[in-house]
Amino acid sequence: MQIQFCGAAREVTGSAHLLTLDDGYKILLDCGLYQGRNKEMEDFNENFIFKPESVDCLLLSHAHIDHSGRIPKLVKDGFRGQIYATHATRSLCAIMLLDSAFIQEKDAEYFNKKRGKFGEGKQPLYTRADVKPAMERFVGLPYEHWERIHPNVEVLYRDAGHILGSANVTLRIKRADGTTTTFGFSGDIGRPNRPILRDPQPMPPCDYIICESTYGDREHDLPPNEIERFLKIIKDTCVEKRGKLLIPAFSLGRTQEIVHMLDQLENAGRLPKIKVFVDSPLAVNATTVFGAHPECYDAELQEYMLTDDNPFGFNELTYTQSVEESKALNYLKGPAIIISASGMMNAGRSKHHLRNTMGSPKNTIFIVGYCSPETPGGKLRAGASGLKLYGDYHELRAEVVIMDSFSAHGDRSEMIDFLAGQQDTCKKIFLVHGDIERMEAFGAVLKENDFREWVAPTLEQTIEL
Ligand SMILES: [Zn+2]
Repeated sequence: MQIQFCGAAREVTGSAHLLTLDDGYKILLDCGLYQGRNKEMEDFNENFIFKPESVDCLLLSHAHIDHSGRIPKLVKDGFRGQIYATHATRSLCAIMLLDSAFIQEKDAEYFNKKRGKFGEGKQPLYTRADVKPAMERFVGLPYEHWERIHPNVEVLYRDAGHILGSANVTLRIKRADGTTTTFGFSGDIGRPNRPILRDPQPMPPCDYIICESTYGDREHDLPPNEIERFLKIIKDTCVEKRGKLLIPAFSLGRTQEIVHMLDQLENAGRLPKIKVFVDSPLAVNATTVFGAHPECYDAELQEYMLTDDNPFGFNELTYTQSVEESKALNYLKGPAIIISASGMMNAGRSKHHLRNTMGSPKNTIFIVGYCSPETPGGKLRAGASGLKLYGDYHELRAEVVIMDSFSAHGDRSEMIDFLAGQQDTCKKIFLVHGDIERMEAFGAVLKENDFREWVAPTLEQTIEL
């Protein structure tokens, strides 16, 4: 049996690992897109390290595009097996992959337009038409159930507490010599005590583990009382200054957390009467999927729903989908809260809203997540006094507030808690999904915690098990 690292090796995107069993059966763990615009990334996305038609099945940990975003390409290039995922991941992929295909199409169109009629046109990695045949290969699995996917392999999905439907994946594999090897794949490890989702569930004892290491070198800030701080920002901006509060947020996860906090404030009679808009088509669709998968909610939300059956909706909240509705928000008079994607304000409707709100001291831009340094969000986080948007320079006169306690990735201690007890059985941990510095730091922590051996595999490296 062997494992080959086909993505997210000393990198944070493009998750893909290929397990080949003693009998030659090939299992792909995740099929993620590399997110970035350089040539190397494009080549990686275009060409699989393995032959797609040679893979027998795909086990998907969760719907984030850096884990699922090359699935339509995999199927387009000849993969004919089943794609196993939790029910909620399957539902989310149906909308996330369409959105990703649309972005691929737009990117190719933009590139070809810029380049003019000379040279060969760029083809999108895949189109919306490629998503349907990919979705037809999905098989939904429940959590906490050993499913036999091959005579020698059983699979267990357990809640990872990272995003809706997220899971860690454990495989029980019968070897040629009659012994059993247990192989664990952490996917992305979530965090305990977060709203909406259950806490991460540890994997059963494993012989080998592929473990993410995104925040392997740091501890998150202790969460301040998020809801009280949020309410104060709303009151300062929308009641005191009669301004607009712009919350750029990722469509999946962060948006629903924010909306649920507002829903709680509304139910408690504490939310001032202000119009709230969720202005992102993907966020609207993602929220619908959240509503359709209450099996993923934690006990607190289940109880909340005994008195409020819609935790993501209230009277003053409007979900806007069409471009016309979105544009109408530009002419809105008076205070309002606008939640819009992308979270980094480098694309999508939030970029337009940023341009419209950043010039007035009455308004606040409330940043609730990580932003790459080169994006408008990243520049605002670094203290920029103005930004170039759509070709023009815009002075920043609005207030910028940052809250970093929303992370969906476990920190160093939370990851060690997740792995607790594995020291007894685990022969080797393969660290993926992180920069090498972070892996080395986390590797040192693993050693301190009596783990036998850790490895940071390189891209394309194959290791015998
Ligand atoms: Zn993720």
